[in-house]
Amino acid sequence: MFHDQFTTAKDYLDHLLTLAIKQKASDVHIEHRASGGLIRIRTQGDMRILAELPQDHMSLLIRRIKFISGLDPERSGNLSEGRFEFDHGGQKIIMRLSILPTNFADDLVIRILGSAPEVFGLSQMNFDPLIQNGLREAVQKSMGLMLVTGPTGSGKTSTLYAAIQEINDGSYKIVTVEDPIEYKVEGLTQIKVDPRYDITYASVLRGALRHDPDVILIGECRELAAAEIAIEASMTGHMVLTTLHTNNAVSSILRLINLGIQPIDVANAMTVAYAQRLIRKLCPVCKQEHAPDETMQARYPILRGKKIYSAKGCESCQNSGYSGRIPVGELLLIDDDIRDVIIQSPSLGALNRIAVAKGLRTMADYGMQLVIQGDLSCHDVVNSVT
Ligand SMILES: [Zn+2]
Repeated sequence: MFHDQFTTAKDYLDHLLTLAIKQKASDVHIEHRASGGLIRIRTQGDMRILAELPQDHMSLLIRRIKFISGLDPERSGNLSEGRFEFDHGGQKIIMRLSILPTNFADDLVIRILGSAPEVFGLSQMNFDPLIQNGLREAVQKSMGLMLVTGPTGSGKTSTLYAAIQEINDGSYKIVTVEDPIEYKVEGLTQIKVDPRYDITYASVLRGALRHDPDVILIGECRELAAAEIAIEASMTGHMVLTTLHTNNAVSSILRLINLGIQPIDVANAMTVAYAQRLIRKLCPVCKQEHAPDETMQARYPILRGKKIYSAKGCESCQNSGYSGRIPVGELLLIDDDIRDVIIQSPSLGALNRIAVAKGLRTMADYGMQLVIQGDLSCHDVVNSVT
C-alpha cells in the first residue's frame, strides 16, 4: 500500500494528475513542509490544497516523477527540468517538470502544458504545391543536408517532421536528436540532448552515427562541433535535416560558413535551404477590403490596382480578426551553379543574385501573392518577412 487506497506511487500520481486536469489546473505544486509533504494545485490563479503526504511517501512520489521525466531519481539538490506525457483517458497531455532544491528537500512544480502536438504530413500543412512538392522530392532523395530556417515559432520543427513523415514507412532507419523532443513519433529513434550531463548534440550524433542510420534529424545546429558532424554525415551517404536561426534561405548557407565550415564542404553537403514564417490567416468572415497604400504599391508593384484585406474581428474569430496560420516559405534547391557561387564567392550579394537568377520565389513574393488572394494582410507579411 502506497497511500490512501493507492497501491503504488504511479497510481497515486495518476490520480493526482487526473484530479488536476479535471479541475482545469495550470500547475501542480509538490512541496515540502517541516511536517511532511503538501500537494497544491493552481486553478485560475488561485492555489488550493489537494493532498497531504507523509515524508516517506513524498520521497517515493518524487522519485517516480523524476524517473518518468527522464531525470535521475537518485539525484537531488540541484535545479533541473524535465518533461513527460500523461495519458488522460487516451489523450496525451504534456507535462513540464521543474525542480527547486529548498531547505527541506526538492520541491517540484508540474506545469500542465496541454495536448501533445499532432504530427502532420506535408500534404496537411497548408503548403502551396511548389513548396510541398519541392520538400517532398528533396526528402525522398534521402541524401544530403536539408536546412530549415526561421526565427523561433516559425514552425521549423513541424515542417521537418512533416518532411520526415514522407519517408517514415519502415524502409529507413531515422534517428532524431533534439532538446526537447517536441513530437513523439512511431517509427523513429528519438534521443534527447541534455548538456547538464554532457549529452551534447555532438556526442549524441557521434553515437547515433554508429547505429547505422539512413536519416538524421538534428533539432538545432548552432555549435561548430555538431555542424561538422552533420556536414560529414550528409557527405557520407546519410540524409541530415536540421534547423538554423537565420532570416532567409540564402543566409543559412552563410551561417554554416560563419560557424567555421569550409565553403566547399557546405556546397557539397547541402541540397535544400528552406526558410519559413507562420503568418496569421485573415478571418474570412470579417476581413475588410481596401486599396493598398501608395508606399506599399511603390515597394511591391504587384499590389498596384489590386484589392487587399486587413483584420477586423467578429464573433466567429473571437474578435481576433484571424483564423489559423499559413506557412509562408522560400525553397532554394542547391544545384551546381549555386555550389560554384558558394565555393568561389560566398557573399550575401552573390548568393542572392544567383538565387534570383534561378527563379527563387522569396517569402516576400509568396506572401504578396497571398495578400492578393485575400488570405493575409499586407501589414502582417511585411512585418514577418522583412
Ligand atoms: Zn472574424
